[in-house]
Amino acid sequence: MTDALPDGIERREFDGTERLATRGEPVYGEPTDGEWRTWNPDRSKLGAMLELGMDTGLEGGDDETVLYLGAASGTTVSHVADFAGPTYAVEFAARPVRDLLEAAESRPRLFPLLKDARKPETYAHVVESDVDAIVQDVATRGQARVALENRRFLAEDGRLLLAVKARSEDVTKDPGEVFGEVREELETGYEILESERLEQYHADHLGIVARPR
Ligand code: SAM
Repeated sequence: MTDALPDGIERREFDGTERLATRGEPVYGEPTDGEWRTWNPDRSKLGAMLELGMDTGLEGGDDETVLYLGAASGTTVSHVADFAGPTYAVEFAARPVRDLLEAAESRPRLFPLLKDARKPETYAHVVESDVDAIVQDVATRGQARVALENRRFLAEDGRLLLAVKARSEDVTKDPGEVFGEVREELETGYEILESERLEQYHADHLGIVARPR
């Protein structure tokens, strides 16, 4: 486990256990201590990647821009907006976006977008180009393709932080085989720097850190 956490994320003691935490209003019933709230890696793939010590390249701070794909009701992206700068949160299902809007009320740097991540041209006029990181957790078929289609937003030295859910690609296939296929497709546009199974926190998920080629 590394201690190289982005600015704005700390390991703090909650009920005798060290846990990741960011500063912000609670969003999903997570334990709080003053202005800090715990980041539950069982509920968040990015949280799991950080907990496992993966080198995400995230630095934190007002200047760091993030495009988040598959924001759902804001569990993870709210933590991102707590430590990063402008955070664009794409989600195509209307119901979770209602909760996401609520999470954004106390977060002026969080911008919810009711959009389909497979159609980046529909939000290209809103999202600034050269974002420092794309975080993707869409849990849908074609996860590599979504990452490739959104590569246009990523700075040359930016990072893709991708959670791949094997069962979303093919429930009948061995997860290892699915991960191999996703990696191969991803490598047409990205260089994979690190990958790790998130098994401890999320069954049949692979965490990937990559940079654009
Ligand atoms: N990342 C969330 C978190 O940690 O709080 C959980 C995301 S959930 C596993 C996957 C989400 O991706 C769902 O809310 C789903 O509606 C959304 N999604 C799937 N395909 C999408 C697409 N093409 N465009 C936008 N959102 C999509």
